Amino acid sequence: MNRDIDINEISDGKLYDAGDMAKLGVDDCSGCHACCCGMGESITLDPYDVFRLEKGLGKSFEELLALNLELRVADGIILPCLKMNETDSCTFLNELGRCSIHQFRPGICRLFPLGRIYENGTHKYFLQVNECHKERQTKIKIKKWIDTPDFGKYEAYIDKWHFYLKTITDRAAEISTEELKAINMNLLQKFYLTPYDISNEFYEQFEARMNDL
Ligand code: SF4
Ligand code: SF4
Repeated sequence: MNRDIDINEISDGKLYDAGDMAKLGVDDCSGCHACCCGMGESITLDPYDVFRLEKGLGKSFEELLALNLELRVADGIILPCLKMNETDSCTFLNELGRCSIHQFRPGICRLFPLGRIYENGTHKYFLQVNECHKERQTKIKIKKWIDTPDFGKYEAYIDKWHFYLKTITDRAAEISTEELKAINMNLLQKFYLTPYDISNEFYEQFEARMNDL
């Protein structure tokens, strides 16, 4: 989503590409789960996140919405996000304080404490220096850190999705409530509610849905 932030205030001042090394390594978070609590509606899910959850948990989007996800509105767009429970923790955090869906956790969880900054149809990464509760010592390649297969396809998809959402947020203030509602219903139906074929690759299915807008 669009955020007005001064990158220099929250980062180490550098911009990174996926092949760059950054100080990301922390000792397996040992005992800490601070970034899985009190996150409000900030962990938004993109369609690939939902595909991964549907495949990993064998649940439909509606079933996920009933327990683990909720819908939020930001910048005029309705999108799913991780739900926090009554103790303000992610519903996927287990009793040992570990992520119960680590293998198919959402993209924002994979990215943390990195962020992305988008420009000219693509993105760079920045390292948030005030977010993690532990000191990060070891340099790790960003691509390895994010730990997602077919990384070139993933990055191209991330850009496409971001700039598609931006076309909506850029218009949201100017169009009627009815038109914005119709756009949101179409977006939810097309990219989230319509089940993905989890036995096939995600990116082709995403492209087909984008081409059908
Ligand atoms: S705040 Fe840092 S150390 Fe704590 S769980 Fe999150 S990433 Fe791990
Ligand atoms: S999905 Fe996992 S890593 Fe992400 S906030 Fe929830 S428990 Fe933490």
